[in-house]
Amino acid sequence: MDCLREIQGKQAHDPIFIEKMNTSASWRCICVPGPLIVGAGPSGLATAACLKEKGVPSVVLERSNCIASLWQLKTYDRLRLHLPKQFCELPLMGFPTDFPTYPIKQQFVDYLEAYAREFDIKPRFNETVSQAEYDATLGFWRVKSVGVNGKGTEYVCRWLVVATGENAEAVMPEMEGMGEFGGDIRHTSLYKSGEEFRGKRVLVVGCGNSGMEVCLDLCNHNAKPSLVVRDTVHVLPREMLGRSTFGLSMWLLKWLPIRFVDRLLLIVTWLMLGDTARIGLDRPRLGPLELKNLSGKTPVLDVGTLANIKSGDIKVCPSIKRLKRHAVEFVNGKTENFDAIILATGYKSNVPSWLKEREMFSEKDGYPRRPFPNGWKGESGLYAVGFTKRGLLGTSMDARRIAEDIERCWKHEAKHRMAFTRSLLQQPSSDSSS
Ligand SMILES: Cc1cc2nc3c(=O)[nH]c(=O)nc-3n(C[C@H](O)[C@H](O)[C@H](O)COP(=O)(O)OP(=O)(O)OC[C@H]3O[C@@H](n4cnc5c(N)ncnc54)[C@H](O)[C@@H]3O)c2cc1C
Repeated sequence: MDCLREIQGKQAHDPIFIEKMNTSASWRCICVPGPLIVGAGPSGLATAACLKEKGVPSVVLERSNCIASLWQLKTYDRLRLHLPKQFCELPLMGFPTDFPTYPIKQQFVDYLEAYAREFDIKPRFNETVSQAEYDATLGFWRVKSVGVNGKGTEYVCRWLVVATGENAEAVMPEMEGMGEFGGDIRHTSLYKSGEEFRGKRVLVVGCGNSGMEVCLDLCNHNAKPSLVVRDTVHVLPREMLGRSTFGLSMWLLKWLPIRFVDRLLLIVTWLMLGDTARIGLDRPRLGPLELKNLSGKTPVLDVGTLANIKSGDIKVCPSIKRLKRHAVEFVNGKTENFDAIILATGYKSNVPSWLKEREMFSEKDGYPRRPFPNGWKGESGLYAVGFTKRGLLGTSMDARRIAEDIERCWKHEAKHRMAFTRSLLQQPSSDSSS
């Protein structure tokens, strides 16, 4: 097997072999000496940087034409990091000191661009991975990608790092009468600003961080937003007792049991925001941190939306029964007119659509089956980064672990490669014996 790897490694650098593969098949074949990383978001970049620091080269494939496409192409203009910057740094390089506590979207993108430059990460853009399968006979992963021109490439690699993210595809709910509605229906991934909805009646479906913030943005642009709240939700102030709620929670969890911290958070929240159930936002039975731990459901950090709900500038509505030409009928029997509907219904992983592997990743939700902190490593050189439901903090932890693990194999195999090369050099050649 080492012998085969040796040959494959040499082929990866052999221009004649590469050229032959290019012309002889409709699929171009490239042998990657190090790991192949799928996705050039924060997780893919962090893993490539950690590997680079350990002297392991990697190849990064990205379906769009830029790094961090979620942040650059699919988020609204007013977006800032939801968590303070110290919890969102990638490994090995901090944020510039003059960045605010909650950097704006463009600052975060600038940071990621600088990060990619610092570690000389040059992803291969416009390459969508359509299939990845482990070839047990070869002992390698075969990863197929398709470019914008439809040209296919097959990468052969020893290690495959899945970094396609928890937010790879928009979740679009089925609603009765959807085809009938005459106004604009769009997912938050296509929402940029409330400017184009000025004066319009807009129904926002979903009350997570994005839905709440889009409502606020619509209010600030003099639109008339209503918010569909189908489920219970924990809304917490973004800051409490002079600290970020997230930072304070992390600190308290070091000393106190989770249920006690939850109770404390809810008491302070009640003092600051009042009883949210009175404005239509019922709280779940479990506390915010316990719920996050058990289900991954993130509490909403309020940045001003609640005040607008209290003042009546944002109306809270129940679940939708059906859509009509210019109106929405709710489950309580009421019907109201709307010009547009924004679906803040979240995202999902796309891993099951391309990874032909069912041990590590669940087919149901596209997440690693093993819960945090053990979901980062699978069998046969397969890894996952950024599927922890813990944001960029989880990404950093995964990236470091993956790089350490691959470095061990890389060094071990490098020793074999050296020994193999040495043995070849030491063999007496037929010329010298004659
Ligand atoms: C609105 C919003 C705000 C957020 N705010 C925060 C925050 O403040 N703090 C925090 O910690 N987290 C936040 N998050 C969570 C967010 O998911 C992470 O910050 C981060 O973007 C995750 O990085 P990632 O690289 O894992 O995934 P992504 O950023 O989604 O990157 C994955 C990349 O993989 C590419 N890709 C997908 N499929 C393929 C394929 N088949 N072939 C090739 N390429 C592919 C995508 O194009 C994408 O570029 C926020 C998320 C959203 C949606």
